[in-house]
Amino acid sequence: MATSSIVSAITRRLDGKVAMITGGASGMGACTAKVFSQHGAKVVIADIQDELGHSVVEKLGNTNSSYMHCDVTNESHIRNAIDETVAKHGKLDIMFNNAGIVGKDKSQIMDNDMADFERVLSVNVTGVFLGIKHAARVMIPARSGSIISTASVASVLGGSASHAYTCSKHALLGLTKNAAVELGQFGIRVNSLSPYGLATPLASTYTGFTAEQFENWMSSRGNLKGVTLKGEDIANAALYLASDEAKYVSGQNLCVDGGFTIVNPSLGMFYTVS
Ligand code: NAD
Repeated sequence: MATSSIVSAITRRLDGKVAMITGGASGMGACTAKVFSQHGAKVVIADIQDELGHSVVEKLGNTNSSYMHCDVTNESHIRNAIDETVAKHGKLDIMFNNAGIVGKDKSQIMDNDMADFERVLSVNVTGVFLGIKHAARVMIPARSGSIISTASVASVLGGSASHAYTCSKHALLGLTKNAAVELGQFGIRVNSLSPYGLATPLASTYTGFTAEQFENWMSSRGNLKGVTLKGEDIANAALYLASDEAKYVSGQNLCVDGGFTIVNPSLGMFYTVS
């Protein structure tokens, strides 16, 4: 084997795999589409932002990748997107349930609106449930697959986001564990990723900050200093969970948070005052 093909076999960690990414038209989903594609995957982006989704696919420059309009809260959209993917590529190896919304941020529970609460749960929980359900439908006969969903540090902490968002991401963790238990017998791995805050359109909507303001704000409150969390960091974590390198990893919530969720700063034992 020529050296170049050995290197490409080693470095292209998703060669021959087929991946669907919901919410892939923007933010960390778009970053992940790029990284998956660079690693040899055929990527299907499923989103509701059609123009943006098509432009992300165009930038991938990979003729095997495509965009599909798919509202994750609509079961027939998810069913069709997965069936079309299998019809076109013959299989689905990786399902990345990444689409999510924050909803309106109202910290006082009495100001929270039931319709908004239900909308956040519908995208962040029902959307993931449908993604896992229909991915499992085509992965079970194949006896393999990797399902990844984007949770958040709000999946393990109280007080870091709105009630609806925190509730939705905690629920996503339960769903991930339950699905991992059931689907393990079929060789299907189910995991979640929990990012700390990073500058994406979702983060700007939530805070009203520019990307730079948001990054500065998050860095000042983060545990790990000297680095800023970027979309590529989430994409690389998803790449690991999607690849065969994680072939025995299932039921886990990989926190990409610089240690934020393991710190309780109230005692301030290791904090230097600057
Ligand atoms: P983003 O807004 O850039 O991307 C989210 C994408 O989801 C968008 O393209 C949007 O069109 C799509 N989407 C929303 N509703 C949809 C629906 N019903 N059907 C299909 N697609 C839909 O935001 P992002 O920050 O990249 O968010 C991606 C995921 O990361 C979300 O699940 C979010 O909760 C999570 N997350 C974000 C942060 C952060 O700080 N940005 C931190 C932790 C977790």
